[in-house]
Amino acid sequence: MTLHTLLKFITLLALTMSSFAAMSGPHNHDKHNHQQAHVHGITELQLVMGIDQIEIQLASPASNIVGFEYAAKTEDEKKRVLDAKAILSNPASLFKINGIRCKTITSLVNVHGLLSAHHERNKQNTHTEITANYQLSCSSVETVKSIEFRIFSHFPSISQLKVQWVSETEQGQRVLKQSNNRLVFGD
Ligand SMILES: [Zn+2]
Repeated sequence: MTLHTLLKFITLLALTMSSFAAMSGPHNHDKHNHQQAHVHGITELQLVMGIDQIEIQLASPASNIVGFEYAAKTEDEKKRVLDAKAILSNPASLFKINGIRCKTITSLVNVHGLLSAHHERNKQNTHTEITANYQLSCSSVETVKSIEFRIFSHFPSISQLKVQWVSETEQGQRVLKQSNNRLVFGD
């Protein structure tokens, strides 16, 4: 990633964070309350496109992915979490990047809170997020044509995917849906 891209990304991030801050209001002092005003159904994704690298950060209410947000109790719930983690660990099955070839360098999926025995189970209003971070090494990123987000077909409870992206030359955001799951560049 060039410094130029990095600076733009930081600007984007600052904007995102200030909008979160604006939403969270004056009563959000509980440190154990780690949700950031997430809305069920909406999954957020940030794409940073460098010269030969793409970084993807995903943050989703756990309910969109596994159907619940408490620490898994039954064997079935535990299996659901592990199955989801396995699917999320393979970015090639979630994002079809057209026009360039990419290889996964790192893939980190965090399902903490869904498997932890220490998670507070009694709190009915606890929200839990699943996050993932991917780094892909790609042939010349600037020739990317589109990205198809197949994550929708794995997790139909995602009703909206809010994508924020930044490249060497542009930045933008788009809300994608199951019926419109493609981010097209250069049009
Ligand atoms: Zn929630």
